[in-house]
Parts: sequence; C-alpha cells; structure tokens
Amino acid sequence: MADLVITGATVVTAMGSTKADVAVTDGRIERIGPDLDPDGARHLDSTGLLVLPGVIDVHTHVRLEDDAHPDRFRRDSLAAAHGGTTTFLTFNNPGTGISDEGASSPLRGLAEFRERTEGRSAVDYGLCSVLSGHQDDPIDELPALIQAGVPTFKAFMVYDFRLPDEELELAMRTAARHGGMLQVHCEDPGMIDPLVADALREGRTACRFHALTRPPQAEAAATRKAIEMARRAEAPLYVVHLSCAEALAEVADAKSRGEPVYAETCPHYLTFTDALYTDPDEGEVIKRVISPPLRSQTDVDALWIGLRDGILDVVGSDHVPDRLDTEKRVPAPPFPEISNGGPGIETLLSVMYSEGVAKGRLGLERMVELLSGNPARLFGLPTKGAIEVGRDADLVLWDPSASRTLRQENLHHTSDFTPYEGLEVRGTPSRVLLRGRAVGEIEGRFMERRLMRREL
Ligand code: MN
Ligand code: MN
Repeated sequence: MADLVITGATVVTAMGSTKADVAVTDGRIERIGPDLDPDGARHLDSTGLLVLPGVIDVHTHVRLEDDAHPDRFRRDSLAAAHGGTTTFLTFNNPGTGISDEGASSPLRGLAEFRERTEGRSAVDYGLCSVLSGHQDDPIDELPALIQAGVPTFKAFMVYDFRLPDEELELAMRTAARHGGMLQVHCEDPGMIDPLVADALREGRTACRFHALTRPPQAEAAATRKAIEMARRAEAPLYVVHLSCAEALAEVADAKSRGEPVYAETCPHYLTFTDALYTDPDEGEVIKRVISPPLRSQTDVDALWIGLRDGILDVVGSDHVPDRLDTEKRVPAPPFPEISNGGPGIETLLSVMYSEGVAKGRLGLERMVELLSGNPARLFGLPTKGAIEVGRDADLVLWDPSASRTLRQENLHHTSDFTPYEGLEVRGTPSRVLLRGRAVGEIEGRFMERRLMRREL
C-alpha cells in the first residue's frame, strides 16, 4: 500500500500535462493514474494545483560551514527547498569555505566537502569540482573523481585561477574518455584585461564599469574557442551562465553541426537588463556585479527564444550567497575588487514560472524540461527530474493562481538581499516533497552521479 497519495492535481511532465493522482511508496513514485484510492495512506487533496518535478539547480555556490558560519550550508539548502528545488549541485571553489588543502586538489576537495556537508542539507545535493590553474595536477585526478561520483567539473577561461588553454583542452579530452564533462565559464581575458586596465588608469572605478569592461564579444569569442576545443577533444561541453545573443549563436552553430554542446542561462539574464547599471545609487548597482554582467533587451529577447527553440538546455541559478554587509560592501571598492555574484537558489522556479510561463514566453512542459528533466539527464541523476513511476518522489505542489511580491524578508537564504526585491510573481510553491516527505522530515543525501554516454 502507498504511503502517500496526491489527488486532484494536474501532473506536469516534459511530455505533457494530465489530471492524475500520484501514489508514493518508500520515497518513490509507485503509480500515476486516475482515481487512486488514498485509503490508509497519507492523503494530499491537491485540487487546483500543479504537480511539478522538484527543480534540480545545477549551478550554485552554497558555502561550507565553519565556526563563523555554523549553519550556512543548512540554511541555503532549506532556502532551495522553500523555492521548489529538491536537488542542487554546488561548486567547492575557493571562497566557498573549502580549506587551502581542499582547494589544492579536487580529490581532497571532494573528501572534505563530503565530510563537512554530511547530514547538513535539507534536500539532495551533489558536487561539481572546480579545476583550477592553482592546483597541482587536477587533470590527473579526473578519472578517480568520476569514479567517486563527481563526473562534472567547472573550469574557467578567465580570472587568475583559470586553466591555460592547452590544459583546458586536455581536461576536456581526459574527462570525456572517462565519462565526464566540463562546465566552462567562457569569457576572454585577452579582451577584458586591457579594458579593465584602461578603466582603472582613467579612474573609472564605479560598479558599472564592471559591466562595461566585460562586453558580449568577450563571452562570444571564448564560447567559440571552448566549442572548438571540445570538437578537437571529441568531448561534450556544457557552457555555464550564457548571457548574450552572440554567444547563443555560437552554441546554435555547434548544435546545428550535431556536436554535444549544451548551454545554461540564469533567471537574472532573463529578467533584468544592463539599464540597471545606470542607477546612480552604487548600493543598488553593486547587487548586479556579476560575471557575465546583465545584457541588453535584445539579448534578453534572444535568450527567451533560445530557451523555447532548444538552443539553451538548462536554467540554473548561479546562486552566490554574498551579503551586502560582508562580501559586497558599500561604499563599493574599485570594481575589480567586488565579489562577483548574487543569490538566487530560492527564487529560481518562482521567477521562471512567473516571467516565463505566466507571461506566455515558455510552455509549462518546456519549463519543467529546463529546470528538472535536462539537468537530471545531463548531470547523471536518473532517479530524479521527472514524474515517472520508479523515480524519486521529489515533487512541488504548485499553486498557479497565487500572486505575491518577492521580498528579502520572506526568503530563507543566507544573503541579506535579493536581486528580485519587489518583483511581482504569479504562482507559488504550496508544498515541496523530498522523496515523498515534507522538507525537514528527512535528511538530504549526497548524490553520487554517473553520466550516461548515450545521453550526451
Ligand atoms: Mn562563472
Ligand atoms: Mn557560478
């Protein structure tokens, strides 16, 4: 007999939406069908609600806990749950609380991450290792990392810890041979560094110059280069946080050639434009110091089309739990010293439903594919990502008729601001289930992942 039966709702999958009941046994979906009998099971009458698969947020920078921050991993995992995200993947790059020892080697970083996060997450979670030019021999460790359930790795083409080009290509090749995939931050330092130096020389240090020194061309050129490397390396490639039409065109070209190139964008690139950088209040502009920066309305429009027509595969939050009182700091230092990033782990589904589905830019089924189905498929989480018999009952009961205003004071994340302050949104999560249980009833698990070659 089922433990839980959800009745009266509309079940949404990437294939379509149907009125059906859902029965859950031992944390898994046991049956989907009409008129399931809730007799003896916990019964959730969900008439008028949608049942969505829990969101899988593959791009976060949730931070490890220490004496000064004893609950921050826990709190951001709870924030994820409150927003409808039942699995997140995070990076353990320097700045996320990893020790120098853990940062020096991906394998040591994985061991430290697992030890320090055990029993600390309210939802299921996993790690994407960072490969950095500051590590001794990160490429040597790739086969063992993949073996240990971490098959995806972030590498940077920009910042002082970037991998040199020849190492990046070697990392792609090595990862591909052993069943892994690189997630690449594509920006070209050859274009950005001279612009930054020039701005500083001229005394243009205000926050908005962060954006003005990182043009779309720098992203597009690096995206093209990463695609060429992946082609030579016969490797799949995942482009993180794609923000502009020119980079999108590079991905579209690669896809039209049949190459296994995937791309992600983030809700802030779909919601805001670079007009926000003209705000005279530095305290506002600093909230949008992110890389890549916000782009033009033309870029925003192109990204929505890219989501619809399959050029973009995933939407991730790029959650960086910075605070204005500690990491960001106002009055702002010169822009190169400002921490890049902003929070978003709790608002991902709300913003995508409201800005996408409710505004008619995205079908409900396509949203579910971008937030759950494709992340599960591309990141090796076959028990998650869809409402299907046998999969984990990670479910969001979504009330499409609700309206609310996003406010920092109502959020649970560890940041002290939200970029979406004051945004009116349609829809709200009315209940979130992790493996069939209410958030907080069970602990989140570390997910050992395996990529499925045929999926890539
Ligand atoms: Mn990045
Ligand atoms: Mn990031």
